[in-house]
Amino acid sequence: MHVSFIVDDMNPRPRKLKVLRWLPNRWVLTRGARRGRVLHLTFDDGPHPEHTPVLLDLLATHRAKATFFLIGREAERYPEMVERIVREGHVLGNHTWSHPQFDRLDLAAQREEIDRTDRLLAGFDGLARHDFRPPRGVLPRPMVLDCVRRGQRIAYWSYDSLDYSKRPAEALIASAQRYPPASGEILLMHDDSALSLQLLEAMLPAWAAGGFAFEPLRPPA
Ligand SMILES: [Zn+2]
Repeated sequence: MHVSFIVDDMNPRPRKLKVLRWLPNRWVLTRGARRGRVLHLTFDDGPHPEHTPVLLDLLATHRAKATFFLIGREAERYPEMVERIVREGHVLGNHTWSHPQFDRLDLAAQREEIDRTDRLLAGFDGLARHDFRPPRGVLPRPMVLDCVRRGQRIAYWSYDSLDYSKRPAEALIASAQRYPPASGEILLMHDDSALSLQLLEAMLPAWAAGGFAFEPLRPPA
């Protein structure tokens, strides 16, 4: 009944960005490459035995490289998926061990969720530290300060695909067309359902035709 409300509701730019974008990118990453036409696809909550392989097939078709923020517990369960992600040139990110409600844990427990996942991921890509993306984007201040102190970058996003919102794929595609992502933007998606696949099947060819390349998030120089 209120069409304008529905449109606003689909706005992909997270409200928190108004604050976060003032922080140095080496602390909280909200924006990627500043040169060229580049989009940064990121996928949270995998690996998933059913959805991740088809997504990797689609990315390969378009020569798209992405960043996968893995749940440690799931990465341990499906190591062959993680090996494939690395082998095909994508980058691993840390999305905690068990995807807990982060603000209900104390700092030591939060740190253990992150460190345990880093140790597991290191076995796949040889890197001691990975960009960290907090579950549901929850950013308790002590944890942010702890990450800054340890030099662990927090990877936020600038563009939310809303693929977890239980809206049909058509609505997500319509939103992506109405609000086109700009160069350097970090797109939040999930590979624990088929929705991001449906969204990308429609949008990857369109974005590629618009001159965009798809690159993973690189560690700070
Ligand atoms: Zn998540």
